[in-house]
Amino acid sequence: MTNTDLPEFLPGHVWLVGAGPGDAGLLTRLAAHALAHADDIVYDALVSDAVLALAGPKANLHYAGKRGGKPSASQPDISAQIIKLAKDRSRVCRLKGGDPFVFGRGGEEALALRTAGVPFRIVPGITAGIGGLAYAGIPPTHRDANAAVTFLTGHDASGQTPHTIDWAALSGGAPVIVIYMGLKHLGEICARLMGVGRGADEPVAVISNATLPNQNVVTTTLENAEADAGRHGLKPPVLVVVGPVVDLRQSLSWFEPGAKS
Ligand code: SAH
Repeated sequence: MTNTDLPEFLPGHVWLVGAGPGDAGLLTRLAAHALAHADDIVYDALVSDAVLALAGPKANLHYAGKRGGKPSASQPDISAQIIKLAKDRSRVCRLKGGDPFVFGRGGEEALALRTAGVPFRIVPGITAGIGGLAYAGIPPTHRDANAAVTFLTGHDASGQTPHTIDWAALSGGAPVIVIYMGLKHLGEICARLMGVGRGADEPVAVISNATLPNQNVVTTTLENAEADAGRHGLKPPVLVVVGPVVDLRQSLSWFEPGAKS
């Protein structure tokens, strides 16, 4: 594969790169190009080891995540760090799980770069709510089932279930709801949906570590989702899918986690 058709990664520039949900095969060519040519790679907790393994041999890797018992970097600290690296003429790859602009604070970092006068490029990635569902055999849309799909975050900046959500409107307008960061408040989210008229027996899938060798999918119902997720010991990162498309997994499941091909 030649890279001559790809833009040059110039010193002093930041590329905000989506790493996809985990399987390194889901990287874009631009993302692989950025990893190979970056001087500094500032990566989040959700970036998989398989993706990081594609970094060039001379790249400095900086962890900016919030998991694994390591101290967490604050958002202003991360923005200041990437701005400083760029001003020192580094090629900075800011690597985020999934897509940088989907529940990833990529917009905030890009705004900080713009304010600081640092040139940047956005490299979209496959968001977990699309790629993760594909590896679970669940199409986010299906002609007979839904004409709309809604992405929802299970908690806001304070860590609570977002209080700005109009649950009745959400429920009425969204036959399929894909919930990011939904494990912690899963019981409350399901209760709220049932409270505005969604059926207790409505199908739900809880997908842990989507696209990775330890992917684990539990299919359940709104009524039983919290208990079933707990019973199977599902750990974050987790996606929750609510709606009729979940049933298609029975026919479309294809990914065998841990299998080589
Ligand atoms: N920018 C990311 C989302 C970051 S928010 C994207 O576009 O995918 C973090 C949430 O993403 C997690 O709490 C989880 O809900 C979801 N997520 C990311 N990777 C995942 C994976 N491999 N499996 C399941 N959920 C994942």
